[in-house]
Order: sequence, then structure tokens, then C-alpha cells
Amino acid sequence: MTPIVAFTDLDDTLFQTAAKCRPNQNLRTAALSSSGEPLSFMTLGQQLLVDLLLKDAYLIAVTARTGASLSRVKLKFNHGAIVNAGGTILDPNGQVDQKWHDITAPKAKQSQALLTEALEMANCFIDHFALEAKARLIGDYGLNFYLSIRTLPGHGSELSDLEKELSEFFGPKAAVNLSGHNLTVRPAYLDKARAVEFFIENYLAFSPEEGLIIGLGDSLADLGFLNLCHYQLIPTNSQLAKFRAL
Ligand SMILES: [Mg+2]
Repeated sequence: MTPIVAFTDLDDTLFQTAAKCRPNQNLRTAALSSSGEPLSFMTLGQQLLVDLLLKDAYLIAVTARTGASLSRVKLKFNHGAIVNAGGTILDPNGQVDQKWHDITAPKAKQSQALLTEALEMANCFIDHFALEAKARLIGDYGLNFYLSIRTLPGHGSELSDLEKELSEFFGPKAAVNLSGHNLTVRPAYLDKARAVEFFIENYLAFSPEEGLIIGLGDSLADLGFLNLCHYQLIPTNSQLAKFRAL
């Protein structure tokens, strides 16, 4: 293998739900739901891009998915992965990197009060406006990492006021990001970029100067780690592409 690594976000970068795909496309199932049904799909362009990367690069997932939901993705990440929005690093054997876990676990524990408060605020907002949205804490390996609030596809704007409210309330203590119909609240310590930095230092067989690092991502939550890469691949019409065009 050549010294090329591609750090890639998954959802809305390499695949998406059927509702976001144009009809009559040559779609391939990319991930299953928790009940085992096909849930996310790759367009032909996304399939070709992944094939191209897999040919010469080590592909590392950098995702907000938990370890369990990563296992429902049909692409295999045999060189390690970053899950829980940076909270956990899995080594090439799929085992939790203990050194990184020891860094993030105490911070995750300290963030419980913040997450509980954010969950209460979200549930109040959902009840008040009678939204068909669901707020839940995303946890893994005995820790809660962040809050996810999902509404129906195409109804993301219903969460705009909640995004503003949470963002003003928590200020620099948390990153609040509305992308599509998914609103997330991540305690400030939780950052994909820090996990990618750790991964580069501890897992790459080459130094960044001796190889090529490519980053792929679609949302503002990906921006930090994309900035650590030599090149950035951003889907057109994504949140990040629109942000960059401003
Ligand atoms: Mg994404």
C-alpha cells in the first residue's frame, strides 16, 4: 500500500438514506437499520469514489456513529476507526484504544450534567411545539457522549429555534450543530479533530510529510479534522459546501 490515508465521515458523505437519493439511481445498500433493514445507500458516484480510495488508501471512518451502528455499515474498516464523534478510537482489530479511552472517559463523565440539561431542554421544546422529534443521549462503552435530536426528514427547520436556544445557553461549553433534520449537542471536549490528531500520531505508519492525508466530510462537525488533512473532499450541496460558499 502507498502511504495514503483517507479519514472519512460516513453519513451524508459516503452514503445517505433513500429519501436523500434521487429516484432511479443505481443504489447500493451501505448500512442497515438496527432491525436489519437496508437504511442507507450509496450512489454510483459514491461507490466509485470508495473503490478509488480503497485501491490505494487506508480508509479510516470518522463518524458520530456508535461502535454498534458502525458494525451495521457494509464497508469494512480494517485499519481502525473513530466513532462516537471522536469519543472512541477503535484499533485495526476493532478493539477500543485504551489510551484514548482513558483521556475521554473522565471528560465524558464530567459532561453528564450538561447532557442531561440539554436533553431536558430539548424534550421541553419538542413537547411545547408538539414536534414529531426524538431526543436521545448517544452512549457507548458505558459512557454518554452527545445528544442527538432527530425530527422527520425535510423538517429540520423546526429545530432551528432549539439550536439557537441551546447554543446561547451553553456558549463555548458545547458545539450545537443542525445538519439536515439532525441536531446534535456535543460537549466541547468531544471533537473529531482531536481524535484524528491522536490517530495520526499513534497509528499512521508514516509521518504526514512523508505521505498524503485526505479528509472527506459534509458537515460543520467535520471541519476541524478536514483542516488537518492535505486535501479535503466535500460533497456538493452539503452543509459544509454551502458554509464555504458564504
Ligand atoms: Mg456526515
